[in-house]
Amino acid sequence: MPQDRRILKATPHALARSVRQLRRGGLVALPTETVYGLGGDATRRAAVARIYAAKGRPAFNPLIVHVAAVEAARAIARFDARARVLAARFWPGPLTLVLGRRPGSRVPRVVAAGRETLAIRVPAHPVARRLLQAFGRPVVAPSANRSGKVSPTTARHVAIGLAKYVPLILDAGRADVGVESTVVDLSGRVAVLLRPGAVTREQLEQAIGPIASLDDEAGDSARASPGRLASHYAPTLPLRLGAGAPRDDEAFLAFGPAPPGVGADRMINLSATGDLVEAAARLFDALRALDRRQFSGIAVAPIPDHGIGAAINDRLRRAAAPRPARR
Ligand code: AMP
Ligand code: MG
Repeated sequence: MPQDRRILKATPHALARSVRQLRRGGLVALPTETVYGLGGDATRRAAVARIYAAKGRPAFNPLIVHVAAVEAARAIARFDARARVLAARFWPGPLTLVLGRRPGSRVPRVVAAGRETLAIRVPAHPVARRLLQAFGRPVVAPSANRSGKVSPTTARHVAIGLAKYVPLILDAGRADVGVESTVVDLSGRVAVLLRPGAVTREQLEQAIGPIASLDDEAGDSARASPGRLASHYAPTLPLRLGAGAPRDDEAFLAFGPAPPGVGADRMINLSATGDLVEAAARLFDALRALDRRQFSGIAVAPIPDHGIGAAINDRLRRAAAPRPARR
């Protein structure tokens, strides 16, 4: 494949260029431990608008603000005891907290699609951290893909999906976690899990006690996460979940021991040993690789729903959901 000149290895030189780009209000795709993000200055409306445009993201779907350290988070959002505990335990890392926005915060409300809350995360990836530290301001960084499509776990995925919208892609290899951050809403009395991820419900509950789900009564729909669209992360082909084996014209996304007689030309195993962490890291790349016109669909093996398996199944359900007529 020809060299893509927008993809730069994340050297100090490339980082310095990225900081200059952010200072100008421009966009930079950056590696994080979850997936690749499309970064822009969270304090500049023009940069925020550019991100919505580049992604084709609906205006009601709010963005996550990334900061270098918890102190920077506390400058823009209100932390209660639960937030302090979770930040101390899981930051830096793949956990996003939805908190009350501090009045007078430098982050404009458009970032949160007009809400009085802010979603914040301190990422653990060394390149993301270096960029945030050098830039010195909060950065909004939704996944670097067109809205509704499969999230990118490599620099090349970004280049393919956002071709004309992103001038600079910092490359640090494959994203470790492979699925987006866990999102917990702490803006009300009841903590609500808005999106499962690598930080599991079990881990969160051990730290702060019971957490409601969006479909529980306690996780009332008034707080329902905006942007949690039924159809998302979608390849072009339809998905058939919980399949023991593929039909003749289907590709197969396997997990654990593969069924006999399915050739390597139409099967990818997320983890032959049944390791959910390995499966999450491979999920999006595998969906892209099997999304080929020669198949009628992608059959997906059942995936256990514990630990990060809950995040994998959440993404697969959305990838399998009926699509809007045209996107
Ligand atoms: P991403 O596209 O990975 O950056 O994820 C953004 C997601 O975080 C959105 O789709 C929402 O589900 C959630 N989110 C971001 N900001 C807020 C907020 N202020 N309130 C509730 N959910 C939010
Ligand atoms: Mg996304």
